[in-house]
Amino acid sequence: MIPALAPHLPSLREAAAREPLGLYLHIPFCKDRCTYCSFVTTRDQGLKASALARLEADLQVWGQALNHPEVDTLYLGGGTPSILTTEEITSLVRVAKDAFNFAPLMEATLEANPGTVDLAWMKAVRKLGFDRLSLGIQTLDDTLLSHLGRIHDGAEGINALLMAQEAGFHRVSADLMVGIPGQRLDRVVSDARTLIAAGATHLSVYMLDLDKNCPLKAQVDAGKLHLPSDDDVADVFEALQAELPKLGLEPYEISNYAIPGELSLHNTRYWERRPYLGLGPSAASHLDRWRWTESEVIQAWAEGRGKADVQELDAAADLAEIPLLGLRMHRGIDWEALQHHAALLDLRHLVDGWEVALKPFLQHGLLAREGPILRFTNRGMLLSNTVLETFI
Ligand code: SF4
Repeated sequence: MIPALAPHLPSLREAAAREPLGLYLHIPFCKDRCTYCSFVTTRDQGLKASALARLEADLQVWGQALNHPEVDTLYLGGGTPSILTTEEITSLVRVAKDAFNFAPLMEATLEANPGTVDLAWMKAVRKLGFDRLSLGIQTLDDTLLSHLGRIHDGAEGINALLMAQEAGFHRVSADLMVGIPGQRLDRVVSDARTLIAAGATHLSVYMLDLDKNCPLKAQVDAGKLHLPSDDDVADVFEALQAELPKLGLEPYEISNYAIPGELSLHNTRYWERRPYLGLGPSAASHLDRWRWTESEVIQAWAEGRGKADVQELDAAADLAEIPLLGLRMHRGIDWEALQHHAALLDLRHLVDGWEVALKPFLQHGLLAREGPILRFTNRGMLLSNTVLETFI
């Protein structure tokens, strides 16, 4: 138990009893490190046994502390969860099921790297109850994959997608990356088409992020590789916005497209501000008015020495999260309900201030107002960071 949260256990327990939780487990191991990676992960498999023991201990501690609450989404992310053996995953799931009350119709997702999976592993995890696989494919272009330091080629990406379906996964998501040095617009769109034709029911389209120091950033800074221009990247996103609905995938969040009904229930809870518990290094949790993030130092976390970052949201910060996260969803938010909620909290002046700040974005067509609903336009989605800064 995180010491700073111990005094607040009664209210955390009450919140966990009010509605089902999402449970996220961070698996901080990868076979090799991608050149652009800034996630909390390591190649040092020597830490695996102690990390898994710590995860299982945390599952038991939290399950007991929160009174064995109901969980309706489970997500194993990383890192590379598919680096775990089926025995290791079986053990984690068994401990989680003992510690929490798993809803019968829950969604259970595993992230998998196409370079670490085979059919037997997929069949085994499907049998354990995982019904959704999220594949880190990124691109089908082998030259770009080698720039990214991925451990698989494009053919293995497609093969993983086909294998997942053969193993009984009807819900398969693929990550697609935009903004890779040397990436051509037509290739991103044709990759998306190929992935959907091969059975992907969901695409997560991410921008390559080189904010932190990493080998790829060093190559770009040294002029050895060149990032596409902002205009070229915007063209790619616009082309995807036009093409994916024709292929049956509707946008439901800034970065996510799905066949209707196949959106990620677990990830949606983040944007809807529904409660979740994250275990593992760097894992984030949100319960009641508390948000916390576990230590990012893997060894310290595994040895129980890491210090979690704990934040108590005040009423204003809590209110700001509604548009900050909710506007990410394609359906937008009910602005009139937000005004009403703010008035009850005596915070109507905050919403009035946001309205003034948002006016230029409405005038320039980045946001649209339809009755009580405020939402991003397609063009606004491309510049969402600028707009969302209003609420920070
Ligand atoms: S597979 Fe993902 S988490 Fe692992 S090194 Fe590559 S980008 Fe990072």
